[in-house]
Amino acid sequence: MHPTLAADRDRLSELLQSVHALAAEELAGLDERPAWQPGSTPAPEPLPAAGSGTQGALARFTERWAPGFSGSAGPRYLGFVTGGATPASIAADWLTGVYDQNAGGSGGSSAAALERETLTWLRELFGLGDAHSGVFVTGSTMSNTVGLAVAREWLGERRDVSVSEDGVAALGPVTVLSGAPHSSITKAASVVGFGRSAVRRTPLLPGNREAVDVTALARELEELDGRPAVVVANLGTVDTVDFDDLRAIAALKERYDFWLHADAAFGAFAALLPSHAHLTDGLDLADSVCVDLHKWLNVPYDSAVLFTRRQDLQVRVFHNSSPYLGLPALPDPDFLHLTPENSRRLRALTAWFSLVAYGREGHREIVARNTAAAADLGDALAQVPHLRLLAPVRLNVVCFTLAGAPTPEAVRAAVEAVAATGEAFVTPTSYRGVPALRAAFSNWRTTPADTERALAAITEATAPTA
Ligand SMILES: *Cc1c(COP(=O)(O)O)cnc(C)c1O
Repeated sequence: MHPTLAADRDRLSELLQSVHALAAEELAGLDERPAWQPGSTPAPEPLPAAGSGTQGALARFTERWAPGFSGSAGPRYLGFVTGGATPASIAADWLTGVYDQNAGGSGGSSAAALERETLTWLRELFGLGDAHSGVFVTGSTMSNTVGLAVAREWLGERRDVSVSEDGVAALGPVTVLSGAPHSSITKAASVVGFGRSAVRRTPLLPGNREAVDVTALARELEELDGRPAVVVANLGTVDTVDFDDLRAIAALKERYDFWLHADAAFGAFAALLPSHAHLTDGLDLADSVCVDLHKWLNVPYDSAVLFTRRQDLQVRVFHNSSPYLGLPALPDPDFLHLTPENSRRLRALTAWFSLVAYGREGHREIVARNTAAAADLGDALAQVPHLRLLAPVRLNVVCFTLAGAPTPEAVRAAVEAVAATGEAFVTPTSYRGVPALRAAFSNWRTTPADTERALAAITEATAPTA
């Protein structure tokens, strides 16, 4: 063994104490770490020939790289929908590396069974029934991609071809209909071979809505003249967190042939709130469902799940069996037969820990507190003369802009001015053609005092200069 490696092995406990000390210090300072760190990349260094051991690496890391890391896990980072990491999930993330299990298969370890238990709990948390089976993936983009890949196999089934055997050319052109899909849906359509242009935007409801107009959707399905399609329902649109009417969409299946994929990346968490649970009504009717965990469950990257009612089709797409072994047996084949990866990190452990540590009640409290924060910020921003709310605050996102007719440049400058305060971070968007800003709440650390600070930062940084 290399002497440096041997030395590390011999003082492993001490090394972990050093890591622990750094982690504790960083987490203690997280609430005050600037959400945004511009110009923070250090000068490049050559590949080390002789290593400096873990202690040396830790020193180089804290000196060169840690100062540039953003406070995106902190309480006033309101960009995108980001989430943080609960204490239990951080502990679990450490342990995931310690045990270093390969959850791709289930031989000789209980790790895959732990993933199954976690999936069963998550299914219950989001109101899905036994007909849905789940799997962990790296994020919602991958969850949507796996969902569309299963949809692709279903389209093949409807047309009597096997896409997994014969390729996507056997399928002919595909139509994916969706009202206000997340950008990852188009990316997924590219990856699975439908092509980005297969995704067609269905008109939205009139008024200030981002939910699909189900009548218009029916018309577009009608125009397909019996050709099976894919419909992506959006549960929680990114700009204004609007929800498609899943029950009404699912009811169209009586007349039209389509696969129903629900992108509920963060909107699924509305199911935890009695006041908002109706928004996720009908989630169980979807053929596949995407839920993110590194967002509103507040586990570290990278974690999301895909649920589907057609595990048999999922296996056809992703199985890694030798031809002479045949397809793996259902239900619940090894996970390597269900996702793009074969070897897989035990990604479920962070969610398992957080669910055991805080339970349904603890996670409901996070969602409730974040939702209340968004409502409070929305109410307060509506009172600021130089700002304008663009949509009602439906869940955890405030979509607003500068008064008057703001240009994209003015909005970008406003976003940068807010970031420069170090107090809060919001992201730019365009809502119904209007350049806008979004403040999204999804972090367990955010308190009412943080909302006050974010409000002050946003109000002052966007004020017109006299
Ligand atoms: C964030 C998000 C995604 C993509 O999730 P990643 O985890 O970043 O891959 C997909 N859909 C919706 C609605 C999202 O909010």
